[in-house]
Amino acid sequence: MKRSDFIKLSGMSSIIIPQALIDKCTEQDQEQIKPEVKPLFCTTCGTQFIDTKHTSGNCPVCSNDRQYLPAKGQAWTKMEELRSNYTNLFTRISDNLYEIITLPKFAIGQKAFLILSPNGNILWDCISLLNEATVEFIKSKGGLKAIVISHPHYYSSINDWAETFNCPIYIHQNDEEFIYTKGSRISLWKGAEIELWDGIKIKNIGGHFPGSSLLIVPYLSAKGTIFCGDTFYISPSKTHVSVMYSYPNFIPVSLSEIKRINESMINIPFDTLIGAFDNQKISPNAKEILHASFLKYI
Ligand SMILES: [Zn+2]
Ligand SMILES: [Zn+2]
Repeated sequence: MKRSDFIKLSGMSSIIIPQALIDKCTEQDQEQIKPEVKPLFCTTCGTQFIDTKHTSGNCPVCSNDRQYLPAKGQAWTKMEELRSNYTNLFTRISDNLYEIITLPKFAIGQKAFLILSPNGNILWDCISLLNEATVEFIKSKGGLKAIVISHPHYYSSINDWAETFNCPIYIHQNDEEFIYTKGSRISLWKGAEIELWDGIKIKNIGGHFPGSSLLIVPYLSAKGTIFCGDTFYISPSKTHVSVMYSYPNFIPVSLSEIKRINESMINIPFDTLIGAFDNQKISPNAKEILHASFLKYI
């Protein structure tokens, strides 16, 4: 080792410290005094980002051709601002089903569903705002055993929710490339279908996104209830179901995709279909309407 690799401390002539060690300590000090980076939410899609490389330009989710960049330009907000300016509304749909939505409307108006189940509750999809009232409400219903996500437009603040409720987040592996904040609670699942508990299943159906998935809950209705997010779009008439690659940009999926999805749904028993937005529930003839809708294209 060269003489220049060491430095003497003034007044302590008997102690010499390797220069490399001093450099290391200085680097650590610099890391420690870095200002804390606050996660930012894209106000158009509601996705939370921690890494500034994703927030230094336009939102990567909205830059994708399924979304759009707003005419007024990219805008960001923080959880504190959401907590000050918005609230979450909890609505009981039935004994074991609650809906959680942010008011006034934030981002694309995402809603989450709390599904109560004997062996552990599930949050289907997620919303950006997580506040004290929401935590208290969900804990009063027994907390969460899992968060299950339909597709990337619901990633919102999933990592915060999963930390708060100490539970995993199920996301299909086909959508891994769209996960910009890879928290330790994210559990990527593979294949066509997995069973969770109490007969509840997640089914990968694709279409809107390669990882787009449905949640199938057998006990919420006589023949079973499917939560479809916006993987299937229930029309206002409730007599038609469509599948789009992009809803805001009106890009349909291909005919071969409609055929594939139609066939994938044939063997699934269900009578109720619950979509992503208000007034999107078809019951009890959801299966017949879904297949009749797809057959219009084929
Ligand atoms: Zn966005
Ligand atoms: Zn979507």
